[in-house]
Amino acid sequence: MNVLENSAVAGTPAQAREEEAILDAHAVRSRFPILERRLAGDRRLAYLDNAATTQKPDVVIEAMTDYYETINANVHRSLHSLGEQATLKFENARGVVAGLVNAPASRHVVFTRGTTEAINLAAWGWGRKNVGPGDVVIVTEMEHHSNLVPWQQLAREKGATLRVIPVMEDGSLDLASYEDFLGPEVKLLAVTHVSNILGTVNPVKEMVAAAHSVNARVVVDAAQSVPHRPVDVQDLGCDFLAFSGHKLCGPTGIGVLFMAENVLDEMDPFMTGGEMIHKVSLTETSWAAPPHKFEAGTPPIAEAIGLGAA
Ligand code: PMP
Repeated sequence: MNVLENSAVAGTPAQAREEEAILDAHAVRSRFPILERRLAGDRRLAYLDNAATTQKPDVVIEAMTDYYETINANVHRSLHSLGEQATLKFENARGVVAGLVNAPASRHVVFTRGTTEAINLAAWGWGRKNVGPGDVVIVTEMEHHSNLVPWQQLAREKGATLRVIPVMEDGSLDLASYEDFLGPEVKLLAVTHVSNILGTVNPVKEMVAAAHSVNARVVVDAAQSVPHRPVDVQDLGCDFLAFSGHKLCGPTGIGVLFMAENVLDEMDPFMTGGEMIHKVSLTETSWAAPPHKFEAGTPPIAEAIGLGAA
């Protein structure tokens, strides 16, 4: 299969210079209140640990403060005006996030606590239902623990085999191994879009097409790509895509699992309880429609609004 080309490492020097030319660093800096802080010896703060978590601009802090100072109510249950306003803001934020990754509609966007919880939702909701003995789950050697351990556990529990695509000397994936792994027993590929250790940009679109040719689903860890490049879930063709708010100037405690139409119906809820139900009796319950089916309990409302602002 020649559809798979080797991955490219991001950013030529010419591109970097072009970006420098359009970035007004002082204007950007002034939007981040924490950067006014002086450290020991009156030194200005230079923060470079953005891959771990980003600092928060004024718009995010203000959106969250404004929510707590003027609205603060629960969503999808409180039949008073604050409840209605909170629900509207919360669902608007979902719409903004859907637009960010070009999801076809808001119902494809489930709010989670972060990338880790989003991947676990896919592993529990989809994996536990659709992976069985003798099946194969493919991961890569460059995965963050968040996109490795849930699949390791799933494979162990279900008697499935975990296959690992090696990383080559130049930091790209050994796509010949990936092609060798593909077959009818492959149920899932879990792959990072951009590596948090190497910066490698993986050819996810081509890898998805290859996985789909054997009817496997694909989970994309986009924790390091959504903050840095346009990500279009429809163009990538992926079934799941996960990312965290706190790595793209949003708050902690909020993340996203995008789910494509085909997998929405293949998924069981991961957690059950309030808000994710349609009808409940003492003996039986039916589920709400997505995305609420996957969001049991009171969600991180201020955090979702903060993410929308980010
Ligand atoms: N995947 C990648 C590629 C990451 O860089 C990170 C965060 N370092 C995660 C997943 C986990 O994200 P979180 O801790 O926000 O759940």
